[in-house]
Amino acid sequence: MIKITKFGGSSVANAEQFRKVKNIIEADPSRRFVVISAAGKASSEDNKITDLLYLCHAHVKYHVDYHGIFDIIKKRFTDIKDELGLSLNIEKELEELSDMLPKLSTDELVSRGEYFTSRMMAEYLKFPFVDAADVIKINYDGSIDFEATDENLQFIMKDHDRFVIPGFYGTTPDGNIKVMSRGGSDITGSILARCLGADLYENWTDVSGFLMADPRIVKDPLGIKMITYSELRELSYMGASVLHEDAVFPVKEANIPINILNTNRPEDKGTIILDTIPKSEDKVAITGIAGKKGFCALAISKKHMPESVGFCRKILSVFEKYGVSVEHLPTGIDSIGMIIQEKYVHNCLYDIIAEIKEKAEPDDIKYIPDLALIATVGRNMSSRIGTSGKLFTALGKNDVNVKIMIQAFNEINILVGVDESDMEKGIRAIYDAFVRDKTD
Ligand code: ASP
Repeated sequence: MIKITKFGGSSVANAEQFRKVKNIIEADPSRRFVVISAAGKASSEDNKITDLLYLCHAHVKYHVDYHGIFDIIKKRFTDIKDELGLSLNIEKELEELSDMLPKLSTDELVSRGEYFTSRMMAEYLKFPFVDAADVIKINYDGSIDFEATDENLQFIMKDHDRFVIPGFYGTTPDGNIKVMSRGGSDITGSILARCLGADLYENWTDVSGFLMADPRIVKDPLGIKMITYSELRELSYMGASVLHEDAVFPVKEANIPINILNTNRPEDKGTIILDTIPKSEDKVAITGIAGKKGFCALAISKKHMPESVGFCRKILSVFEKYGVSVEHLPTGIDSIGMIIQEKYVHNCLYDIIAEIKEKAEPDDIKYIPDLALIATVGRNMSSRIGTSGKLFTALGKNDVNVKIMIQAFNEINILVGVDESDMEKGIRAIYDAFVRDKTD
């Protein structure tokens, strides 16, 4: 059994968290390949080492003394070392880093958060340390060179049956360090899972997996036991973020399950993310509900629209010209709606409207501001007649006016557009109808 075990920043924020990690690793002998993030926040007032390293770099860039910030980083690391009684001479290495700092690239500097946290974890767990710079190969465009990475891993596996490796970075073909996007240690775990053919990718965080709804909106929502990658994609598009989006792709192809787990509550089962969920385990009516504010729409109408060949293209070409992505396109017989994120049309809305008028000659254009979208996601919706009936009944009963409805052919997501002020009420109504009210 091969497990990739990745610990996020909050799981390695201080010595106490290091101890929890050790207990988790020692509780299961198949946890032999450990990916570590940079020490993150132990509490909300705390700082992430990665943020502090970026801050050091900004100081250097603007010729401001960085030593004060670097001292905070040093203390975070040495506190962990001293409390755990480690022998690594981190003081000396940090001193050297501080001296070299102005000459380092941003990527090399910020990667040191993962590097030092992992070095300490390797010593503490008594595992060999393997540097991600020697393993993870990143193309110049930021994509992963799986072939080269795989080759490096096979080579390393000849001598190691376990190791600790830093997440978040690798090297480009010229040997320079390159970091991934923020939260990228999730991706390192995923790459390793794929290359080592893991049976399971455990992703340890500070939450016990995904919840069916935002707990700031719904009181004590149930946890999601299992979710497919596609459902996760729908929910994370709406803002439910626990896992880096790009971490899904390497494991999805190989159908390796990801288990989101909580370092502070290791007994919780968390959420399992899978490509396909066995029918026998699959009883849920919906998987989760998420809402997102900040949308607006242009409702455009033209008589005999279906016969106006090229009408949609002309409108869409205007959005393309202004670099605005149209996220949804609900249509009527003689009208079409363009749903976009408000922030992208802040400065160009009136130019866009003027150009659409000129190019597509519509009869009318209405701007509808302050929209929220509510996504009700569930892999089983397609096979259950009555899901949308239940959903719209719940919204109606609770006085939530539905302005837009969208369901794609994959039938795993019903999106409704409502006034921003109705979003929370709408989410609660849907949750209650599907989860709390079993009498319907
Ligand atoms: N340390 C990096 C960050 O804060 C990467 C990670 O934690 O996954 O974004």
